[in-house]
Amino acid sequence: MLIYLNGKLVPREQAVVSVFDHGFLYGDGVFEGIRVYDGNVFRLQEHIDRLYESAKTIDMQLPLTPAEMIAATLRTVAANNKQDAYIRLVVSRGYGDLGIDPAKCETPTVAIIVASIVLYPAEYYDKGVPLITSHIRRIPPECLDPRIKSLNYMNNILAKIDARRAGVPEALMLNSMGFVAECTADNIFIVKDGALKTPDLLYGALGGITRGAVMELAEQVGIGVKETRLAMHDMYNADECFLTGTGAEVVPVISIDGRQIGDGQPGAMTRQLSGAFAELRVRDGIRVDYDVPTEVGP
Ligand code: PMP
Repeated sequence: MLIYLNGKLVPREQAVVSVFDHGFLYGDGVFEGIRVYDGNVFRLQEHIDRLYESAKTIDMQLPLTPAEMIAATLRTVAANNKQDAYIRLVVSRGYGDLGIDPAKCETPTVAIIVASIVLYPAEYYDKGVPLITSHIRRIPPECLDPRIKSLNYMNNILAKIDARRAGVPEALMLNSMGFVAECTADNIFIVKDGALKTPDLLYGALGGITRGAVMELAEQVGIGVKETRLAMHDMYNADECFLTGTGAEVVPVISIDGRQIGDGQPGAMTRQLSGAFAELRVRDGIRVDYDVPTEVGP
């Protein structure tokens, strides 16, 4: 496995970062999770746009232009010769000292890892998954904008622990007002009376790339999509519910807090959108050229 680290492709054992890196010390940085499907990096441009927007908001100047970051990502995929993979692109504030002041960090650390994907079990897709609602709330947008995909995942991790303890794969997270935000690492949708609804980003959700793709697919086939305010009452009484995310793709939800959703089976619209997404993912993105040399610049 070759890892891109600060302009070089290095073997896994040499891909190490200092304990003085502010990503390690303070979770100061941003990241992306991206999929490669059959040699196509799904919506790479959108992921890079989100990365640079996150970096801008946290006032971090990346050492590569977006075009160079795309080239570095594609070359790292090619160097690992993987047709199907999960890419983790991490940019931390970089090497500094023990104070939180980012001014002490001269250059951000950039790492690109191209790993084999660990898929959710097939039964999640065939039968759907149960959810619980975590008592851990999403950080309010007035404290930290949820659109920043930052390295600070502590409250999501605590909510994931709630899910694990309850024996379910994912937990629903509410915002500080008690409205639905998203899950620990996935966005959430419901279907009600033939329309698709998902929490507006201002209620505390990350602007998921998969969320955006599913909304576009729905609109293309005439399904109404509303970004709105959802309470638990809306969730429990939904006709269908599903999760979206880079790792998860589209996962049907069959119960929330023990309340059955719809007839307790993956719904028809969920299946339709999941099928449409499966077709989209291999053609919407940037193709990898596997014949490029393995050096990576700058
Ligand atoms: N919400 C959170 C908190 C996430 O970390 C993620 C990414 N795993 C998502 C939603 C889904 O976003 P995407 O579709 O871009 O993977």
